[in-house]
Amino acid sequence: MFELKTEADLLAVFRYRDRKHVELSRDVTLPSYVSHYLTWSHGRRVFLVFALPGAAPKGIVFESGSEGPPVPQMCDWCQQVGLGAQVGLLTARRDRQRTVGVLVCSDLGCRDRLDYVAARAGVDAEPAIRALLQRMDRFAETLGFERTGS
Ligand SMILES: [Zn+2]
Repeated sequence: MFELKTEADLLAVFRYRDRKHVELSRDVTLPSYVSHYLTWSHGRRVFLVFALPGAAPKGIVFESGSEGPPVPQMCDWCQQVGLGAQVGLLTARRDRQRTVGVLVCSDLGCRDRLDYVAARAGVDAEPAIRALLQRMDRFAETLGFERTGS
C-alpha cells in the first residue's frame, strides 16, 4: 500500500525522461491509497505505478503494440493464460535507442486474475501478488530503476 497525494507525486515516480509522456485519465483519482499497483491507459499508452511492500513506488510508461496472435498465451507476470484477457506485447523505452518488451495481460489486470484464481482455489492471493510485484520490479530494473530488495 502506498499513497499518491498529488499529480506531482505521481509524476515523480516515473523516470525523468518519461514524465512528459505521462497522461492521466479519469480512472486516476488523487489523492489515493494504492494497494499493490495502479494502472491506466491513454490512447496506445499503458501506465503502471507499483510498489513492493515498504519500497518507493516506480512508474513505467508502456506502448501497446499490435495484438498478439489469436492463440492462448501466458502472461509473463501473472502466468495465467487467457481468462478473458488478451495477452500482448507492451514495450517501454530503456533509452533513446532501445526498448524492452514484455508479454503480459494487455490491460495489466494481472492482480484481478490472480485474485480470481486464488478465490477459486480457496487460497490467499497475496503470495502470488507479491511474486507479480517482484516480476514488475525485475522489469523495472532493466529500464534502469534500482532493484528493490531480493
Ligand atoms: Zn497478467
